[in-house]
Amino acid sequence: MSFDYDLFVIGGGSGGVRSARLTAADGHKVGLAEEFRMGGTCVIRGCIPKKLMVFASSFPAEIAAAKAYGWEASVGAFDWGRFQGELHKELARLEAIYDRNASNAGVEIFHQRATVVDAHTVRLADGTEKTTKHILIAVGGTPFVPDTVPGHELAITSNEIFDIPELPNKILIVGGGYIASEFAGIFNGLGCNVTQYYRGAQILRGFDDEARGHIANEMIANGIDLHLGTNVSSMEKHDGRIRVRNSTGGAEIFDVVLYATGRKPHTIGLGLENAGVNLARNGAVEVDDYSQTSVPSIYAVGDVTDRVNLTPVAIREGVAFHETVFRGNAMKPDHALIPSAVFTQPEFGTVGLSEEEARDIEPIEVYCAAFRPMQSNFIGHKERVMFKLVVSEQSRKVLGCHIIAPHAGEMIQIAGIAVKMGATKEDFDATVAVHPTMAEELVLMKEPVRKA
Ligand code: NDP
Repeated sequence: MSFDYDLFVIGGGSGGVRSARLTAADGHKVGLAEEFRMGGTCVIRGCIPKKLMVFASSFPAEIAAAKAYGWEASVGAFDWGRFQGELHKELARLEAIYDRNASNAGVEIFHQRATVVDAHTVRLADGTEKTTKHILIAVGGTPFVPDTVPGHELAITSNEIFDIPELPNKILIVGGGYIASEFAGIFNGLGCNVTQYYRGAQILRGFDDEARGHIANEMIANGIDLHLGTNVSSMEKHDGRIRVRNSTGGAEIFDVVLYATGRKPHTIGLGLENAGVNLARNGAVEVDDYSQTSVPSIYAVGDVTDRVNLTPVAIREGVAFHETVFRGNAMKPDHALIPSAVFTQPEFGTVGLSEEEARDIEPIEVYCAAFRPMQSNFIGHKERVMFKLVVSEQSRKVLGCHIIAPHAGEMIQIAGIAVKMGATKEDFDATVAVHPTMAEELVLMKEPVRKA
């Protein structure tokens, strides 16, 4: 049977574009449909614009530090409109690169929505149908706002946050995950009054408890009004602003309410159920170790599969899909020991097991140093950094490494190599310290602070 394409990809984000490019570059006929903008969440309304906002928001603290070091310096007003202009120029540049790289590799791009008709057919929004030997679903996720809260439609999500017309004087951020905690730091740094509600006992659930506590304390010290055990009960319009009633009986008025209460796989209306593709209860496409769905010709990679929702993981899954399906080299994406960073302020880099996870598995030793780094100690700043290793008592392997410090994301990329290679505590100790740095602590912690 002949098809219009060897591969048709739905979704022009990190995972979809990588799979499409590699497959087309091998000489296969590849089509790709993207309904919004090439680059997907990461490039257009996720990692990239967020990180640029982290940079923008960190200058006031740096200028204050420069002053304390003896520079004549002062923080002026932040021109949100100018920043937004530059931001959107940069995003357009990156989008064009994604588009160009895919086209140059031979991918035929359709700038419209596509849905699945059956195991070998997709339908474009203009009504045309394309037959294809394989379909790859790479449509990512979309922010989820609980619709049980009265007035929930007044809230915005991370999809809209980069386009707000002016910076809020007072902003409420709801949630305690990556996005909520990162944006709390961003808006605080930009000079807004930030309140964060998290329904649980501590933000960043799932990460190392000691690290979570350290980050929360630093965020509070930086001026974020963090309310734990608190949720929104209702929202209503109030003189062009939003009056929020909360679960502890309080009420307050905000200019903007940002909900960062998780993301859902973007599968509604995609036609997958009709084609026989099994979906999980939250809408995620169910896949096996090779990213194959219950329909053998249909595969899925990235956030839509709700495995590990990170850009570099989607890319790895896309590469493994291409190797498996188009090169006859069965390859499973490796989801073990993935280093990652949360761009809170302070920044958090982490790889491997938390202390809590590790001690449920085997006896461990915990090495931890929390201290005021030289750069800020010099000017009397109170901020503290933290370096923590979770070590197997028996194998001596470093099971987890957790760093809270400026540039922790950069550090954990390097430490992640050692942990992934199975380095032991003694391997860390055998490495000569780089002095004077904060990270030298990683190889200088002699005694465990506790065993569990
Ligand atoms: P997360 O799943 O990380 O956090 C969602 C938060 O919302 C949790 O604190 C959760 O609470 C809370 N929540 C969920 N439902 C409700 C509700 N009904 N009412 C109140 N609170 C609620 O999602 P994010 O949106 O922050 O991020 C989505 C994903 O994007 C992440 O999982 C991550 O994979 C990725 N990401 C990665 C980044 C990075 O690598 N730096 C940056 C940004 C996003 P509870 O803990 O109690 O469930």
